[in-house]
Amino acid sequence: MNAVLIDWMGGDLTAVNSARCSFAKKKDVFDEKDERLIRYLASHKHWTPFGHIILQFRITAPIFVARQWYRHTVGFARNEESRRYIRNEPSVFHPTNWRSKPEGSIKQGSGSVHQDSHFWDKDYKDLVDRSLRFYNKMIEDGVAPEQARMVLPQATETSWVETASLYAYARLCNERMQPDAQVEIRDLAEMVYNQCRDVAPVSWKELVYV
Ligand SMILES: Cc1cc2nc3c(=O)[nH]c(=O)nc-3n(C[C@H](O)[C@H](O)[C@H](O)COP(=O)(O)OP(=O)(O)OC[C@H]3O[C@@H](n4cnc5c(N)ncnc54)[C@H](O)[C@@H]3O)c2cc1C
Repeated sequence: MNAVLIDWMGGDLTAVNSARCSFAKKKDVFDEKDERLIRYLASHKHWTPFGHIILQFRITAPIFVARQWYRHTVGFARNEESRRYIRNEPSVFHPTNWRSKPEGSIKQGSGSVHQDSHFWDKDYKDLVDRSLRFYNKMIEDGVAPEQARMVLPQATETSWVETASLYAYARLCNERMQPDAQVEIRDLAEMVYNQCRDVAPVSWKELVYV
């Protein structure tokens, strides 16, 4: 699972210059006054200045995480690989451990590491290997890839290119880095978080509250 920033446009100065467009003003160097302006814009929910900072990621994640990620729709453009067309060996996500079901609210998703985590590791690997063998056999035997993929597990990784504004990523990270979000999507959101922060550190600090 990973998220790689492959392209971006703008930074903190873009946000303040966009906001100052209304006064026909533009600056070349970011200073303390701009920091205050960003704080004001973010706290008053003026989102459009942050809509001009654009990031493009190449993301690889298991299908069960992608399904959650794709629920964030507004302001995102995505193009995804298709197992109908690609022929490379599918990669399957292996968690570092298995977590117990939560002690308290089910909304919490999971609790501490399961006592038989290693036991489940082995069985999981066997099952995954078996589905991959099954899949490869169907492909070799001429079954249509669009159907053969039905035997692949939900943990099969998929990959997509995604473009959105800094503001859209802030909204996503604010939701998906909370303790009630699933650990795996939190890990992915954290990768995106770190790279958004590098592009526009001041804006990011004001937009994200996790
Ligand atoms: C911890 C967690 C658990 C979840 N569990 C489930 C679940 O069990 N089942 C499930 O189905 N989903 C679940 N979700 C997904 C959730 O319901 C949202 O779909 C997802 O978080 C995307 O948020 P969003 O709607 O704000 O995003 P976007 O679709 O990107 O929308 C962004 C914002 O735009 C505005 N907006 C979007 N569409 C409209 C519209 N038509 N009209 C007016 N304003 C609009 C809203 O203000 C919205 O917040 C879960 C999310 C989280 C974080």
